[in-house]
Amino acid sequence: MGWLERLNTGLAKTRTAMRGTFDRMIGRTPDPVLLEEIEAALLSADLGVRIVERLMEALKTRGRGGEAGTGEPLRRLVQEEILAILRLTQGPTLGRLIEQGPRPFVLLVVGVNGVGKTTTIAKLAQRFLQEGKTPLLVAGDTFRAAAIDQLQVWADRLKVELVRHRPGADPAAVAFDGLSAAKARHVDVLLIDSAGRLHTKTNLMDELRKVKRVLSQSAAGAPHEVLLVLDATVGQNALAQARQFQEAVGVTGLAVTKLDGTARAGIVVAISEELKLPVRLVGLGESVDDLQDFQADAFVKALL
Ligand code: GDP
Repeated sequence: MGWLERLNTGLAKTRTAMRGTFDRMIGRTPDPVLLEEIEAALLSADLGVRIVERLMEALKTRGRGGEAGTGEPLRRLVQEEILAILRLTQGPTLGRLIEQGPRPFVLLVVGVNGVGKTTTIAKLAQRFLQEGKTPLLVAGDTFRAAAIDQLQVWADRLKVELVRHRPGADPAAVAFDGLSAAKARHVDVLLIDSAGRLHTKTNLMDELRKVKRVLSQSAAGAPHEVLLVLDATVGQNALAQARQFQEAVGVTGLAVTKLDGTARAGIVVAISEELKLPVRLVGLGESVDDLQDFQADAFVKALL
C-alpha cells in the first residue's frame, strides 16, 4: 500500500461518517436544516465546538449568494477552512528537524500509558534505519518493568541498541547514560521513552522535568524535540492530557496515534488549533509502516 492509500484507509471511519452528510446535500441549497446536519456531522468528527462554529460561520457567509450551493462545493469549502486552520500550526517534518539539528539529535517521547509511545519509537527507529541513520533507544519508563522489556523486544527485532537500567532506577540517570552513549557511539538520533502513569501525576511531571534538565545540561539545546504522543480514540481527553504535558514539560511536536480506530479523527485539528503545536506524525495502524509524516492537505482530503 502506498502512503496515500494507507492514509485513506486509516481515516476511512471518520470519512464515511462525514461523507454521507455531504453526499445527502448534493443538489440542495444550504437551508437551515441542511446546515444543522453539517454542523452535527462536524461535531461528531470531534473537530471541537470552536472550530465547528468557525466553519459554520464560513459556510453561512460564503454559502449565501449561491457560491456554495450544493454538497460538493460545501465539502470543498469546509476542507479549505480546515486546511487554513492546520496551516497556522504546521511545522517541519521530524526528518527535516533532524537533518537540520545537531548530532546526536535528542528526541524525548512523552505521553500517558497506552497511547502508543513505545510503538511510535519502534516505528521511528525503523524509519531512521531505512534512511541510513543510526538510532539509539533509551528505556526511560523505569517505573514499569514491562515497558523496559517491551522496548527490548523492539530493539532486538530491529537490531538497534537499547540503553536500560533496572526497574525502579532514576529515569534521569538512564537518559544521561543514553546521551553519553549516543555521543560516544556517534549516534544520529537518540530516542528516549518515558513513563506515562497518570495516577501519580505530580511525580511524573517532576520526573520528566528532571529528565529534561539533565539532558539540557549534557547537550546544548537537548532535548531537541519533545514529542507528545496522543491517542485519537480518547477524543477530547487527549486535549486535556496535552495541556498537562505542555504546561509541565513544554511540548514541541505531536504524534497522534490510532486514527485508524476512530470515526473522530477531527480531534487532530482541534488539538493543533488549541495548543498551537505542529502535528508531526500520525499513526494509522499497528504495523511499523503505519506511521506517517503529517501532511495537512492530504490529511484534510482523506478526512472529508
Ligand atoms: P505506550 O504505553 O504509550 O508505550 O503504548 P504502546 O506503544 O505499548 O501501545 C499501546 C497499544 O496501542 C499497542 O497495542 C499498539 O499496538 C497500539 N497502537 C499504537 N499505535 C497505534 C496506531 O496508530 N493504530 C492502532 N490501531 N494501534 C496502535
